[in-house]
Amino acid sequence: MKRFPRSLLLWALAGLPLAAAAQGGRTWPPNSMDRPKPPVVDPGPERAPVPPPSDAIVLFDGRDLSQWRMGDSSPAKWIVRDGYVEVAPGTGTMLTRRAFGDVQLHLEWATPAPPHGDSQERGNSGVFLMGVYEIQVLDGWHNVTYADGYQGAVYGQTPPLVNASRPPGQWQTYDIIFHRPRFGPDGHVLRSARVTVVHNGVLVQDNTEITGRTVHAAVAHYTPHADRLPLGLQDHENPVRYRNIWIRELPEQE
Ligand code: MG
Repeated sequence: MKRFPRSLLLWALAGLPLAAAAQGGRTWPPNSMDRPKPPVVDPGPERAPVPPPSDAIVLFDGRDLSQWRMGDSSPAKWIVRDGYVEVAPGTGTMLTRRAFGDVQLHLEWATPAPPHGDSQERGNSGVFLMGVYEIQVLDGWHNVTYADGYQGAVYGQTPPLVNASRPPGQWQTYDIIFHRPRFGPDGHVLRSARVTVVHNGVLVQDNTEITGRTVHAAVAHYTPHADRLPLGLQDHENPVRYRNIWIRELPEQE
């Protein structure tokens, strides 16, 4: 996660195009420490869990992981206690048993307190839409990292509009509206995926185009996939907690 200078050098040597991500009138390579950091916004105090609406599919209500599995289809191995589920470091990504396309997703998360590590090693997890497009989860509270690696980033592509973090240990919310990419019969991209993210009640992604599947220190690109795929939560070796996860399936847009 700290290979930025080397990756830049490799890019220069390879003559690869820089990322298409424009910000402030210029483009930035993925994971650039020079890219302007998102301004800090105080989102206000921690709040009680947001009840699911009547048509939501409840993916985790604090009691069990029956809606989840590991990547190898074995039962979910993360730790459930006191109404939340905590990443069991080293067990791997946890995936939903159901598959989803266009969705509205609500989830709540908290990073470890006291915090451990710096930059990408502090409270790192992630919401993997369709298992491949990451909305970053990170402890961004007084933590310096690259702009497109903060919580609320489309990881490696688009930083959050602002840094609306609460302190580590406090519950935070994501409300995510996601429209999947559309692929033609030959696999080419007819329409990119788009995502809107509200973090702690604050808009951090505004109908942002996702430029491809999430990769580290490289320019993302699409590879075709199914119309519906499981939602994933990332094990980045940090014991991040989640609670109150629900999802609404959205009608397909023409
Ligand atoms: Mg992550």
